[in-house]
Amino acid sequence: MKTKVIDGKSISQYILKELKRRVNILKEMGIEPKLDIILVGFNPASEIYVEKKIRSSGEIGIKAELHKFPKDIKQNELLKMIEKLNSDEGVHGILVQLPLPKHLDEQKVIDTICPEKDVDGLTTYNLGNLFVGEAIFEPCTPKGIIKMLDYENIEIDGRNVVVIGRSNIVGKPLSLMFLKRNATVTVCHSKTKDLKGHSKNADILVVAVGKPRFVTGDMVKDEAVVVDVGINRVGKKIIGDVDFDNVEYKVSHITPVPGGVGPLTVAMVLENTIISAERSLRE
Ligand code: NAD
Repeated sequence: MKTKVIDGKSISQYILKELKRRVNILKEMGIEPKLDIILVGFNPASEIYVEKKIRSSGEIGIKAELHKFPKDIKQNELLKMIEKLNSDEGVHGILVQLPLPKHLDEQKVIDTICPEKDVDGLTTYNLGNLFVGEAIFEPCTPKGIIKMLDYENIEIDGRNVVVIGRSNIVGKPLSLMFLKRNATVTVCHSKTKDLKGHSKNADILVVAVGKPRFVTGDMVKDEAVVVDVGINRVGKKIIGDVDFDNVEYKVSHITPVPGGVGPLTVAMVLENTIISAERSLRE
């Protein structure tokens, strides 16, 4: 069987086209979807991610506004800004670009976003509801990964899924979402013993570690589906957590970096913003 390299870029283009149609309907009904992004300090990677979100918003007709703050901003000031956006009826989505400088309490800042505008799905309220059943918004990277697998008609039900990484933004919520789709889920992390023993058992292997070429060919089962979430800058290149060249030949599907999960993450931020605007019509 030939390996399919999953083209996240073109899947996201397809999704964005459909989202643009929904934005046009909203505009006909007098609603202009708006996403407000908060960026604190200067982090080259964050600047790039924010720019991508703003550019894609513009392409489909979402109004995006960037609020930039110096790295030494006081927490109270930031919380006040978020509260202001919470009460602004014209704002449908609020996103705080992570990471934040160390003196800020990241979860406290995120939890100040009202859950109905938390389009990143990272408030304790939304993550907690994901655990219980339905969140108002699901976190964007995990949501994008599941959407990508569905788009590729990759069966999830009953399969062995191994997620390497247990962050609040990727690994943990993704494992819950796979569980909800009836997968048998194993979550591995930095203290996992015999990682290879687990990863070799995966029908679907998701890697969100943040170490370049961390997963090598010998760690992957033949014909597995491999999803590489990692974004690592090595010299001038961006590479993933999977040693692509040595894994590609033995698996059924693999996502590239760049052009895999990343574009889907952006598309899901925009989808959540549109969902929020659509909900505002029903209030
Ligand atoms: P993180 O950086 O918060 O944590 C890394 C995780 O890897 C931890 O849970 C840790 O336990 C695990 N880990 C570290 N060393 C390990 C080891 N030796 N064996 C097994 N597990 C190990 O995670 P994150 O924020 O989810 O980010 C992971 C990567 O994904 C980063 O490269 C990040 O840039 C990228 N990322 C990409 C997107 C996207 O849209 N493509 C979105 C979010 C994060």
